[in-house]
Amino acid sequence: MIPSLAQLAYVVASALFIFSLYWMNNPQTARKSVRAGVIAMILAMAATWIQPGIVHHLWIILAILAGFAVGIPLSRVALTAVPQRTALSHAFGGLAAGLVGTAKFYLWMSEGGAMLTPFRTSALILEVLLGFLTFTGSLMAAGKLQEVKWIPQRPVTYPLQNLTNIGLLLFAAALGVMIVLNPAGPWTAIAFPIIIALSLAFGILLIIPIGGADMPTVISILNAYAGLSAVAMGFMLDNKLLIVAGALDGSSGLILSIIMCKAMNRSFANVLFGAFGQVQATKGAADGRSYKQETIEGAAQIMEQASLVVIIPGYGMAVAQAQHRVRELYDQLTKRGITVKFAIHPVAGRMPGHMNVLLAEADIPYSDQIAMDDINPEMPQCDVALVIGANDVVNPAARTDKSTPIYGMPIIDADKARTVFAIKRSKNPGFAGIDNDLYFADRSFMLFGDAKAVIGDLVKQFSGGSGMH
Ligand code: NDP
Repeated sequence: MIPSLAQLAYVVASALFIFSLYWMNNPQTARKSVRAGVIAMILAMAATWIQPGIVHHLWIILAILAGFAVGIPLSRVALTAVPQRTALSHAFGGLAAGLVGTAKFYLWMSEGGAMLTPFRTSALILEVLLGFLTFTGSLMAAGKLQEVKWIPQRPVTYPLQNLTNIGLLLFAAALGVMIVLNPAGPWTAIAFPIIIALSLAFGILLIIPIGGADMPTVISILNAYAGLSAVAMGFMLDNKLLIVAGALDGSSGLILSIIMCKAMNRSFANVLFGAFGQVQATKGAADGRSYKQETIEGAAQIMEQASLVVIIPGYGMAVAQAQHRVRELYDQLTKRGITVKFAIHPVAGRMPGHMNVLLAEADIPYSDQIAMDDINPEMPQCDVALVIGANDVVNPAARTDKSTPIYGMPIIDADKARTVFAIKRSKNPGFAGIDNDLYFADRSFMLFGDAKAVIGDLVKQFSGGSGMH
């Protein structure tokens, strides 16, 4: 009775996981998606817990409490820190898979090794390899994103690096094959811990040649590894839910990294081995071009005459937490009959969907949040493009300058608008470390300052307050 109940719960949980991912496709259904995912996870845990084979209830309770102790503070991090928070989750997932594999290996060995069939052992070795490399790799990635002092942000490269890394991985795989062929062999006791040590080392070595700039994409790739290791664990334990959930996790991580690579016009190989961000051009400041500035009053007057205003948010809006002020500006403009649209670049901010989440928090209607490909044809008709803390995603150099690291990255065509106002605090470059030609264009004007303060001043202009900047 209980096993079939558990199997039924697993089927329902699998279906809910699939729906959860499907609903995640659209900001309007994202909340429902999170709820479905939570219910699926609770069902899966409950169905596992009621199995007759479970003997250590106290350990399960302690593990759940430990999960809460780590999970609750993790859920409270700022939105800008979500990439590193996600990396930490993958690190825990990888560690769990690695530890389960190790525990099972030693348990089955102590029982005489009959359970260690070639298939099960292969799955176990794969799980341990992927699990432990995901653990250290994700910790390194989180550290780079958090800008931990002792982890260098820039790519650290040395001669024959890729060859060394691949050599290490192949050596670990060869040891794994030896164990699969003869689990009872005398070398197994030494080979297994060496595999663990090599995969822990490989996770670190894989990440050090990759610059901080590429970490969000790498995290997504690590997500795929964590998923694959869960699939391997599913085969090892003969647990179908783990296979399904792991496959979903692995493939969604892979798809997300492909989307991010496309949006940055990079290849996987370039992200993993390209050492992006090592050489950063610093031309603009030195080549004598200067910015034109506009006052808040002047900008407000021009906006008031506009019929279409396109707001292009970027990482700076997230840093300034300016989304609620942006909402007030949106209200002021739409109240005057001006059409306001938000142009969303797929990699604006520091994770896909970053801007949608912020704008949704401020209740900006989803119908006014327009994806890059749909808004670009409208940009020549746009009277005012208001760039809020976005930089790389509006840099026209991506279209023309082959020497820039963002060459070929699709951008939002802010430069085609009749007038551009750009809000940022300084003349510093954006994420890719290069100056932005858009800011020097004839029709572009800078509104220097913190995004929240500048938008607040603009709102005051419209609502009749003083708000001089
Ligand atoms: P950028 O990082 O290029 O630029 C952000 C700008 O915001 C900076 O120039 C900064 O200028 C400004 N800024 C920072 N804080 C504030 C503030 N408080 N008020 C006003 N302005 C501020 O951001 P984009 O969103 O344009 O581009 C995203 C970049 O991240 C791209 O290069 C993309 O490839 C990369 N990336 C994105 C990923 C994703 O999934 N979203 C994943 C991997 C990489 P200043 O300091 O002068 O204020």
